[in-house]
Amino acid sequence: MPEPERKAWIGRARAVPILGEIARRGIKLKRVGAERIGPCPLCGGRDRFSIHTKKQCWNCRQCKKESDTGDVIGFVQWLDNCDFNTACATLTGEPPPKKANSKHRSAAPKQVTAGEYSYCDEVGNVLFVVERHHYQNADGTFVLKDGKYEKAFKQKRPDPDCKGKWVSNLEGVRVVPYRLPEVIAAIANGQPVAVVEGEGKADLLASWKLAATTNAGGAKRWKREHAAFLKNADVILVPDNDDAGWEHINVVAASLIGAAARLRVLVLPGLPPKGDVVDWAKAGGTREALDGLISNAPDWMPPLDGIAKRKKAAAKQSEDELLDALVRMRRASRAAESASGWQSNWASTPRILTLKSKRVRSRPKLRRCSMAGGSSSRGRSRSTATH
Ligand SMILES: [Zn+2]
Repeated sequence: MPEPERKAWIGRARAVPILGEIARRGIKLKRVGAERIGPCPLCGGRDRFSIHTKKQCWNCRQCKKESDTGDVIGFVQWLDNCDFNTACATLTGEPPPKKANSKHRSAAPKQVTAGEYSYCDEVGNVLFVVERHHYQNADGTFVLKDGKYEKAFKQKRPDPDCKGKWVSNLEGVRVVPYRLPEVIAAIANGQPVAVVEGEGKADLLASWKLAATTNAGGAKRWKREHAAFLKNADVILVPDNDDAGWEHINVVAASLIGAAARLRVLVLPGLPPKGDVVDWAKAGGTREALDGLISNAPDWMPPLDGIAKRKKAAAKQSEDELLDALVRMRRASRAAESASGWQSNWASTPRILTLKSKRVRSRPKLRRCSMAGGSSSRGRSRSTATH
């Protein structure tokens, strides 16, 4: 159970109005009733991000995950890609209260820094640092997940008011891709730039003298600002071997259409599920083998968009419904004809068959045609009924 001090601290963080935190970060939203709506600060768009001022919650239709909590603490965790304590510290402006119960604490795995990745500006000044943490048990072993180290990331920026100190958030920090100076040099020299997911992979490729970059925070945090630095680059996209990996490179590629000189996809052979270039290197992959793969790498092709697919299916369904309706109308009309003895010159089988045979090739025409047919059929049915 949290100590009273910690409980009160979390309470103070939770009491920060979500609108206040939005305003403090300079995020502009439009007022619509009790909601504020606008572009998502992470994934953009026009109106996919919203906050509810009465309920004190937030949502992004595109990038909020089920695991993200909808309150103000969850908002900061999501936006800064930080853990719960860091979010509370950002909101309250106070560090977490010290834990008295050290016995309990030592039993839980502790976070240890396993790597530090500096993001620099064009000339190599550090703008911010991403820390990679692993979880170490009391017996010295590490917590694993899917056979790899369980990891967490923290971000920090140099404290502008106090040299040598750090602030644990990225407020006001420029968005730059990882290893920017090398990216710039590679583009200037006409050499390829690999885009991977994660700093460790970029470091591995860089150790093989291949310019490589990534964005802080992992998949779904690639921004337009990152893409701007890859103008005229010969880009090699290196996806991790899972859906998230492919989704990520497709987002990156889409942002580079028309900007990059070339966009290729490098699929590493023999990767296990969720495997990546680090696994490939451990299994014997080398720079020479990589060069061979790069020279045969196909150009990136946009995937058939999921939304387009759904629209197509919906259109197909409404078309089928329309045809069913026409067939039903024809039957009704025939029944009315045989009852009244009136001979229709519209509701005849050949016309329906013509419509059906044309449905794939010329859907718009079919729509216009069927609407006209529908209204005239209603007119006919009515006149038939009155006779
Ligand atoms: Zn979003």
